[in-house]
Amino acid sequence: MFLGLVVGVLIRIVIGDKPDAVLTIGSLQLGLKAILVDGIFHAGGQIFLSSLKMLVVPLVLVSLVCGTASLKDVSTLGRIGRKSMGLFILTTALAIAVAIVLALLVSPGVGVDLSTDAKFAPGEIKTVTQVFIDMFPSNPINAMAKGEMLQIIVFAVLFGIAITLSGAVGERIRLFFEDMNVVVMKLVEIVMHFSPYGVFFLMAKLFTTLELSDMVNLGKYFSVVFFALLFHGFVVYGAFIMFAARLNPLTFFKKMRETAMFAFSTSSSNATVASNLATTTNKLGVSNKVSSFTVPLGATINMDGTAIMQGVATVFIAQVYNIDLTTSDYLMVILTATLASVGTAGVPGVGLVMLAMVLEQVGLPVDGIALILGVDRLLDMTRTAVNVTGDAMVSCLVAKSEGVLDEKVYNDPNAGRID
Ligand code: ASP
Repeated sequence: MFLGLVVGVLIRIVIGDKPDAVLTIGSLQLGLKAILVDGIFHAGGQIFLSSLKMLVVPLVLVSLVCGTASLKDVSTLGRIGRKSMGLFILTTALAIAVAIVLALLVSPGVGVDLSTDAKFAPGEIKTVTQVFIDMFPSNPINAMAKGEMLQIIVFAVLFGIAITLSGAVGERIRLFFEDMNVVVMKLVEIVMHFSPYGVFFLMAKLFTTLELSDMVNLGKYFSVVFFALLFHGFVVYGAFIMFAARLNPLTFFKKMRETAMFAFSTSSSNATVASNLATTTNKLGVSNKVSSFTVPLGATINMDGTAIMQGVATVFIAQVYNIDLTTSDYLMVILTATLASVGTAGVPGVGLVMLAMVLEQVGLPVDGIALILGVDRLLDMTRTAVNVTGDAMVSCLVAKSEGVLDEKVYNDPNAGRID
C-alpha cells in the first residue's frame, strides 16, 4: 500500500508537466501514463477488484446457509439478529452524534467560499418503505446476479432454516454446503495471495490522479471528519471490545489491520466482505454461526464511518450557506442518516448519495455536496476502513455474548494467517 502511494505520487510529479513522459529501462521505453498508469496499474487494480467482488455472492450464500443450518433452533437466529441490529444502530447513532458535536465545536464551514464548479447529481433516492420492500427477493437468482446483498441474506437465512426443518434430507444438504464452504474459503485464500499486488496497483493508480489542492481549502472539514473517524475507529471500538466484550483491544486492531487496509484501498465494504469474514472467523475466533450473518449484513447496513462524514458534512453545509439548524433538526439528521445506511450497498462514494437524502430531510441545499466532492475520495477510503472494523467489532461482541467466541483463536497471534 505504501509503495503504491509513493510510486503514484512520484509518477504524478513527473507527468504533471510532461503527460507523455517515458520510463527507459535498457532498450525498453514505457510511456508512463499510457502504458504504466492507464495500462498496467489500471488493469491490475481492476482485475483485483473484480476478483474480490467475484467472491462475495458465493461466499455470503454458502457461509450463511451453513451458519443458519448449523443453529440448533430458529430462536437463536432471532437473538443474534436482534443483538447485531441493536448494536449496528447504536454505534451508528453514536458515531453521528459525536461527529455533529465535534463539527459544532470546530465550525469547519464558517468563512468558506461558496463558489465551486463541481456539480453533484444525487441520482435516485429510495424511500425507507422501498428499502424494506426491496429486502425481499422475488427471484433469488436475479438477486445473486445483481449482487443484492440484503436479498441474498434473506434467501440464505430462509434456505438455512428450511434445511434445519427438513430432517435427514436437510442434513445431507447441510453437509454439501459445509463442503462447499471449505472450497469457497480456499478460493478466498487464493485471491488473498495476490492482494499485495492488487493493493499496490490500486494505490499507485489512485495517487497519480488524486487532486490534493482541495484538501488545503477544505482543511478544516477534512480534519474534523478524519479525526472523528480515527476517534470512533480506535477509541469507541476499543472501548466496546475492552469493556463490553472483555477482550484485548490491541489484539483486535492488530488482527484487523489487513482487512482495514483492504477497505482503505478498495473504498468498498462489499469488496471487503471476503477478507472480513476470513479475519473475524479465522483470526478473531468468531463462530461462523455469527460472522456469516453479521459481516455481510454489516457491510450493507452498518456504516459508522459514513454516518460520521454525513454528520460533519451537514453541519459544514449549514454553516457555509448560513442556515441555522435547531436541535430537532440535528435529531432528524441522526435518525435519517442511521436509517439511510440501511439498504445502501457498501460501494465507493455511496455515502454522498445518502447525504443528499439527509440534507433534503432538514431543508439544506443538496448542491452543497459539490463543495466537498474534491476531498471525498480519501475520506471515503478512511471511512470504509471504519465501516468494516465496526462490523468485525459487532461480530466479536455478539459472539462473545452468545458464548461462541473462541478466545484461544482470538489470542493466538498466528491464528488464520495465510502464508
Ligand atoms: N464506501 C463506503 C463503503 O463501502 C460507503 C461510503 O461511505 O461511501 O462502506
